[in-house]
Amino acid sequence: MGHALNAVLQDILSRWKRMSGYKVLWVPGTDHAGIATQNVVEKQLAAEGLNRHELGRDAFVERVWKWKAEYGGRIIHQLKRLGASCDWSRERFTLDEGLSKAVREVFVRLYEEGLIYKDNRLINWCPRCHTALSDLEVEHEELEGKLTYIKYPLSDGSGKHITVATTRPETMLGDAAVSVNPGDDRYQELIGRILNLPLTERQIPVISDPAVDPSFGTGAVKVTPAHDFNDEAMAKRQNPPLPFITVIGDDGLMTQTTGERYAGLDRYECRKLVLKDLKELHLIEKEEAHTHAIGHCYRCKTITEPLMTPQWYVNVQSMAKDAIRIVKEGKIRIIPKTWENTYFAWMEDIKDWCVSRQIWWGHRIPVWYCKEMRNEKCRMRNGINVSREAPRECRHCGSVTLVQEEDVLDTWFSSALWPFSTLGWPDYTEDLRMFYPTSVLVTGFDIIFFWVARMVMMGLKFMGDEPFRDVYIHALVRDIRGQKMSKSKGNVVDPLIMIDRYGTDAFRFTLAAFAAQGRDVKFSEDRVEGYRHFVNKLWNAARFIMMNIEQASHSGPLTKDGLTLSLPGKWILSRLAATAEEMDIAMKEYRFNDAANSIYQFVWHEFCDWYIEMAKIEFPDPDFKEGTKWCLLSTLDALLKLLHPFMPFVTEEIWQKIKPLKDGVTDRDSGNDKSIMVSEYPRVLPRNNKAEEDMLCVADVITGIRTIRGELNILPSLKLNALIKTHSPTVENILKENVHYIKSLARVDRIEIGGDVRKPEGSATSIKSSVEIFVPLKGVLNIAAEIDRLKKEKAKIDASLVSLGKKLFNDDFLQKAPREIIEKEKAKYDELITMRDKINESIKMLREAEVKNGS
Ligand SMILES: [Zn+2]
Ligand SMILES: [Zn+2]
Repeated sequence: MGHALNAVLQDILSRWKRMSGYKVLWVPGTDHAGIATQNVVEKQLAAEGLNRHELGRDAFVERVWKWKAEYGGRIIHQLKRLGASCDWSRERFTLDEGLSKAVREVFVRLYEEGLIYKDNRLINWCPRCHTALSDLEVEHEELEGKLTYIKYPLSDGSGKHITVATTRPETMLGDAAVSVNPGDDRYQELIGRILNLPLTERQIPVISDPAVDPSFGTGAVKVTPAHDFNDEAMAKRQNPPLPFITVIGDDGLMTQTTGERYAGLDRYECRKLVLKDLKELHLIEKEEAHTHAIGHCYRCKTITEPLMTPQWYVNVQSMAKDAIRIVKEGKIRIIPKTWENTYFAWMEDIKDWCVSRQIWWGHRIPVWYCKEMRNEKCRMRNGINVSREAPRECRHCGSVTLVQEEDVLDTWFSSALWPFSTLGWPDYTEDLRMFYPTSVLVTGFDIIFFWVARMVMMGLKFMGDEPFRDVYIHALVRDIRGQKMSKSKGNVVDPLIMIDRYGTDAFRFTLAAFAAQGRDVKFSEDRVEGYRHFVNKLWNAARFIMMNIEQASHSGPLTKDGLTLSLPGKWILSRLAATAEEMDIAMKEYRFNDAANSIYQFVWHEFCDWYIEMAKIEFPDPDFKEGTKWCLLSTLDALLKLLHPFMPFVTEEIWQKIKPLKDGVTDRDSGNDKSIMVSEYPRVLPRNNKAEEDMLCVADVITGIRTIRGELNILPSLKLNALIKTHSPTVENILKENVHYIKSLARVDRIEIGGDVRKPEGSATSIKSSVEIFVPLKGVLNIAAEIDRLKKEKAKIDASLVSLGKKLFNDDFLQKAPREIIEKEKAKYDELITMRDKINESIKMLREAEVKNGS
């Protein structure tokens, strides 16, 4: 659903701009999703009793390509079903030859500048995926754990000990020291003393370091440089540095270093055994419940392990500074603006980017190691050759024994180049000149750092220009209760199923109509169904218009010149202008929901509810016939275009059907009538305020009479009489000129309009801003009997309210009943209250009629 929302918003922007006369390029494509894809294929292999190592690198990669061919097309297929108007001839994939060339070019240039380097330090490691992860690929989750207080005896045989508190007892096997804060009075005399590390044969010193928090645990902490980022830093600060003792391997199992008893155990099994052994030695002082953040692999959710391994890093410090500046200067706008702070906070604290991954599916790092290292020059560089193409010999010593780096690059390394690599870079192509920098990036907040920030850095670095001007960050799609969609909750919605059931247009419109800035989309199938009604409404309106225009005599091209327009005609054109203007402003500000709601209101509540109804009355009038036809067709034509970016399919279908009818109707058409998607988007035209005000008077009277009918339950077939009192001669004139609309739409027989109109005996009243409306009820209904009937109805409702109230205000029910039931009952209660209010209104209206009657 997130992808669907993303694609729909991009398509709305693309279609809108394309129709507005811009040259629009939307490049479709996918990344190779290294770790995720490799995981899927590894799972398939596991089901066949195989693993990738048995298969070998080449065969494995070939297998992933096969999987990609089969399933990789799904995203593209979904995009097409959504109606995404991409340039399919330019479809790209991050492992394409062209994009791979860009990846190697960037790697080599960064290396030559000294911005890519190899280092052996702690990184986040996923023991299941068997690869390094960047900081961003580790998700931290608060988990309930235990803080264990362990006694480390002094080696002097004094029987004294120092107690340390730890959440990971198994790592004690790799401890290199115990550390205290240098200012902590409790431990002054212990600094420099030697401890016996329990469960091992080793001895470790007590050291001091200002980073130790005296208020945590006992104020003394164990130091495990090879398995903790803070301890790594502490170990490097010591003179001489503390040793790094690796006790957990890259598979999450205890290493040989831990000795026979523990080696080979899973890290969590080992924890249990270590605790058991310590207990037997009476070395556990106590255990406390403790909640702390634990890192998980973002792909497979396995708990990550800090591990000492050689990896490739990109020094991003200066690139990050440029990327911050460009947003601060406003050259890149992040919308909604609140996300800018998130962007700045991360960029200001950015760490070097670990870009190597120990998997096979991806861009193999363009590094070749010289196996001979024949001279000092080669040895100084550790035999490293970095090259755009596979070198034939070592550039340092001439040896031909070269072996390529096994690791591949982080997928985001290639995705970071997307804005220019897809346009042909490193070649200076026509596309690159024409379309770089791009105008807008639409994306989810979850990849602001993974993707957006890195594209900004790489774009500035290699193109000298920002990759895009606007970044629109869209919200999450949640379920109707606001819960995140997840398989475990069973509330996941498949966009393709929605499309099958309700059509792409209704589905797209739902997403757009709820895509308010800074608010998550609460999605429900009911809403899609609602918008399908809207599609039907539009379809029926169009069919009515086509039928009537085909039947009307049609002589030559229909142009606005010399046509007489009725008040409703002038009004609907003005409302159309207002709608176009509202949408224009909303679209420019990425307020998709406001634009969608404007056109929805216009089509349903102005064009269909009012204008088409009034046009039906106008048709027999020869003075209006041609004008009405012109108005109907040109308004339909324009509203289809306004709606097209949101509902591309139904608008195209109707537009093609009305094309033969509207020769010359749309005098501002550019003549490009192959498809609505390349027709000219409606310009914002001036409004007609007089027509809007006049129409409001007429509509006020019609709705006033309709309200009386509704509240008093008067049959629609029963014709009424009406008296309209107004002191404004202008209003009087407008109403008199347009009295036929009132008679027809409010089903009124005789009507009297004027300043000296008096309220007849026994009549219902409706008061509007400029008029008073009286409807005589004599002969229409028996007021006394009607009041009686309403009272009885009210009594029934009151009784239901009492019994329902007993339930709803009962704590027992509220606590025990399922939420759905409570919500249903509450809704029922509210509905009854509304009904009762309505009846009270009706009774009041009847009583007023009765009192004036004098009876
Ligand atoms: Zn993993
Ligand atoms: Zn060499």
